[in-house]
Amino acid sequence: MTNIVLASNNKKKIAELETLLANTTSNLVKVVSLRDIGFTDDIIEDGNSFEENSLIKASTPAKLGYIGIADDSGLAVDYLGGAPGIYSARYSGEGATDESNRVKLLHALEGVDEEDRGAKFVCVAAFVLPEGSAYTIPEEWRISEELSNKSGIPSERAMVVRGECKGIILTEEHGNGGFGYDPLFYYPEFGETFAEISAERKNLVSHRGNAMREFTEKVKTILQSNGEN
Ligand code: IMP
Repeated sequence: MTNIVLASNNKKKIAELETLLANTTSNLVKVVSLRDIGFTDDIIEDGNSFEENSLIKASTPAKLGYIGIADDSGLAVDYLGGAPGIYSARYSGEGATDESNRVKLLHALEGVDEEDRGAKFVCVAAFVLPEGSAYTIPEEWRISEELSNKSGIPSERAMVVRGECKGIILTEEHGNGGFGYDPLFYYPEFGETFAEISAERKNLVSHRGNAMREFTEKVKTILQSNGEN
């Protein structure tokens, strides 16, 4: 059994991610949090992309000798040139809440026609091995040289997987479920917002579901084909 440390501060996201990981890798890994390994400092997410920020988070446990995983996600609205993007959680500034962020988004899109309200949720999951790990990431899955230079992590020790999900930003909220921008994110194929559907149904099509399905398969392959299992 290998310990994997999940670097995240969002409780609802940890729960979603743990469920997805457990389904694929339950017999191979035990997922623990940063707190479980005694790390309580804040992680400064000062990267310029979802990829860079997810690597900053996942490399924190890796620097302490653990396999680190993390995800970074957000909403990219076409009309706003991809904003709020990596700033989704703090879109409405200091002390931002999910609700204040949604209010700001509605204001930013006031008067914008439905055909121009396209958006996508993005989720990038990162996997970082500690130095000297017995595991190997297949070459074709490793991060690019560019991302390696930006993050300062050798490409042979890191992998990122991106998932996306397209929808439309409504002019008012619908539904009470989910979190973040879910009540405003209309998913045309379902004819409902992400706040109106169950977590299971959301996982089938969501950015996080898409990223995590590919991610967990790849993590499983890495842990099965290498090391001391
Ligand atoms: P992160 O915690 O840095 O990944 O930021 C994620 C932010 O993006 C959250 O605070 C939400 O505002 C938004 N977000 C990410 N995923 C979702 C989702 O599935 N539904 C709604 N909002 C999301």
